[in-house]
Amino acid sequence: MRGEQEMATGNRSVLPLTVLVKSETGARPKLRRTPETVFFTGEGTVDHACGECGHVIVRGLSRSQLTGMSFECPACGTLNG
Ligand SMILES: [Zn+2]
Repeated sequence: MRGEQEMATGNRSVLPLTVLVKSETGARPKLRRTPETVFFTGEGTVDHACGECGHVIVRGLSRSQLTGMSFECPACGTLNG
């Protein structure tokens, strides 16, 4: 199972996303999910967390794959991008 392999590596890292101010987010598609889910899950070992509260929002994607998107933290409501 893929999930078991990820847990076995044990060397994931978590990077904070950039907190966005409202004026920066107007043109971006805004994604919103419930607190139980992450927005995306990829094959990589880097997770991205809310820049305000540290809640993990995106798993396993590189920073470049998130360019142009914004994420509303399901835990604190901060916009990250
Ligand atoms: Zn947050």
